[in-house]
Amino acid sequence: MSLPIVAIIGRPNVGKSTVANRLAGDNDAIVHDEAGVTRDRTYRPAFWQDRDYIVVDTGGLVFDDDTEFLPLIREQALAALAEASAAIFVVDGQAGLTTGDQEIAEWLRQHPIPVVLAVNKCESPQQGLVQASEFWSLGLGEPFPMSGIHGNGTGELLEKLVTYLPSVDEIEETPEIKVAIVGRPNVGKSSLLNALTGENRSIVSPISGTTRDAIDSVVERNGTTYRLIDTAGIRRKKNVEYGSEFFGINRAFKAIRRADVVLLVIDVLDGVTDQDQKLAGRIAEEGRACVVIANKWDAVEKDSYTIYEHQANITTRLSFVEWAEVIFTSALTGQRVDKILGLVNTAAEEHKRRVSTAVINEVLEEAISWHSPTVSRQGRQGKIYYGTQVSTQPPSIVLFVNDPQRFNDNYRRYIEKQFRQQLGFKGSPIKLMWRGKK
Ligand code: GDP
Ligand code: GDP
Repeated sequence: MSLPIVAIIGRPNVGKSTVANRLAGDNDAIVHDEAGVTRDRTYRPAFWQDRDYIVVDTGGLVFDDDTEFLPLIREQALAALAEASAAIFVVDGQAGLTTGDQEIAEWLRQHPIPVVLAVNKCESPQQGLVQASEFWSLGLGEPFPMSGIHGNGTGELLEKLVTYLPSVDEIEETPEIKVAIVGRPNVGKSSLLNALTGENRSIVSPISGTTRDAIDSVVERNGTTYRLIDTAGIRRKKNVEYGSEFFGINRAFKAIRRADVVLLVIDVLDGVTDQDQKLAGRIAEEGRACVVIANKWDAVEKDSYTIYEHQANITTRLSFVEWAEVIFTSALTGQRVDKILGLVNTAAEEHKRRVSTAVINEVLEEAISWHSPTVSRQGRQGKIYYGTQVSTQPPSIVLFVNDPQRFNDNYRRYIEKQFRQQLGFKGSPIKLMWRGKK
């Protein structure tokens, strides 16, 4: 998924870095006081409501100066503009309109790029409107008074900005689900791979991956393409260079990182081992979707309760991925193997599902009214202002609170559980970020 880029341009010292830091939520970055200090273009992720974008801070833009580094800065601004979906043109509301601003405006009008005009350093909203009004004459539409330092006015500015960015649907690419099959030696990974690709051998095409000998298999089912990652590694395992007990955990970690959905294969005869837990931990840490495959089900002696006992045991022992679907298969007889890709599909969809801010806040409100945040020993109570989903894969929700330290682990787990119960996201981890007011 490639995100739209927003370039921040303007004369030196108008507050471009400060504005960029504000949008990227990173107020610790160094801001130089000296006019025209060169710096590299910095690309940082930012978001507004459900829109993600990349903010690029450029050096100052000056046209009438011949000191030697200025053309360089201009080049940076040009390069940033060339790849941007929109630009934020920052001017200094305290300094007022300058010829430098007029030159940049003139230059911008020759570029086919939407521009939002930010009149920075307007700390006071009333005064800001007056300060901003003179910038109408630049012919770039409505000037938005704001303060990069204090943050006021950024909401209106961003509201306008996102109308110029491609929508979420436009950004999403055609689906190809990357699937990693991981697990200890001898749990049945190669057998499962063969069962999954078997009848489709003819469309299995080797595509060289990042390393020379990584070979992916591609399978198509019901219009969806599944790329089974580095499966050569699984086949190769039997080579003499590794003993039969060799557990290529680093190879597994690499495959997990490349995957959208991880098939964590365990051997039901052994139950969940420490190594299985380690893999589950990594899957959760990397924020990957997951389906647990409890394989060799044919070899288990069963009565009508057996599957529930196993199910409960696996979910408890694999608590890192307790949100994952567990399926009992036999690569040997083929039992339920045909269900695996369907589960992969569901997990992948949940992994990139977006939930509106309204729904998230409904869940939050409900959760808080059942159980309000505890009061700390110092007598301070945590307050949740609102939440919003800022990204997908995995679904990530930011909670804006008065002070993250006022929420203990118990309460955080409670909120997480509420989201899980109300929003589903079966097969996908949910990432919660608690952000305080600075
Ligand atoms: P850049 O050269 O355009 O990137 O500008 P900087 O972000 O480095 O800021 C230049 C100067 O303006 C610094 O001294 C900042 O502290 C100051 N500044 C930036 N934003 C604001 C603001 O919103 N209000 C006020 N009063 N000063 C600001
Ligand atoms: P890998 O090391 O994880 O790739 O495991 P393999 O696919 O090589 O399988 C290891 C051994 O388990 C082989 O002897 C397989 O025949 C056997 N095996 C794999 N899947 C099953 C299954 O579903 N049931 C039974 N009974 N044996 C299986």
